[in-house]
Amino acid sequence: MSVMIIIMSVLFIIFLFLIYAVLPTLVIRIFGLSIIQRISDERSIALTFDDGPDPDYTPQLLDLLKRFNVKASFFVVGEKVKNNPELVRRMHAEGHTIGIHHYHHISSWIMSPFKLREQLRLTEELITRCTNEKVHFYRPPWGHFNLFSLLVGRQYSIIMWNKIFKDWKTEVCKESLLEKLHANTEGGSIYLLHDSGVTLGADREAPKYMIEKLEKFLEESRRNRVAFISLNELYQLDKNTRVI
Ligand SMILES: [Zn+2]
Repeated sequence: MSVMIIIMSVLFIIFLFLIYAVLPTLVIRIFGLSIIQRISDERSIALTFDDGPDPDYTPQLLDLLKRFNVKASFFVVGEKVKNNPELVRRMHAEGHTIGIHHYHHISSWIMSPFKLREQLRLTEELITRCTNEKVHFYRPPWGHFNLFSLLVGRQYSIIMWNKIFKDWKTEVCKESLLEKLHANTEGGSIYLLHDSGVTLGADREAPKYMIEKLEKFLEESRRNRVAFISLNELYQLDKNTRVI
């Protein structure tokens, strides 16, 4: 009898997890509910970088973007903003967009709505302290949503991506990243890349190789007149309609 109760309890917990975490993520992502997976500017590509700011790699990436005069968007982790505020100030001063990627790099699947609200609030507060501006954009780690994510994050535009390259792996960066970046230059795309390698499942050194390949990609893009745009630039463009 007690074994039966244990089995029923486990099944019930799995059921709750499916309803609270997995199902909302599938529905939101498959049907594109309240999320942005492409930009409306069909002539440009939006480069986005997650998981920073990283004291080793983010400065190198900012140098590179500056050299090519490319404006990008960074989805930053709050605790890293706290430890590296000067990098966020630099991002802002150099015209990049800064969005929220939770205070800790934790999945929304294992967070209550209250905890999620706290993660967003804390991170926004830290970003605003560096930029003196309201934060408009949010991207949940791993693209995970829970049942309350859209409600809790309703004041933000939720930015996903349509091009992902597995650049958190050193091997991928070394072997195929450049090819993949070139193969996906259709206008309106949102590229997802990473300027930190300390996230669970990532290789610490991967951003080093990502930056190397990105440099080659930007060189080639300049020759081919591929245009890049930040989310703030788009937001300004579409301010009247608030459609990005
Ligand atoms: Zn992330």
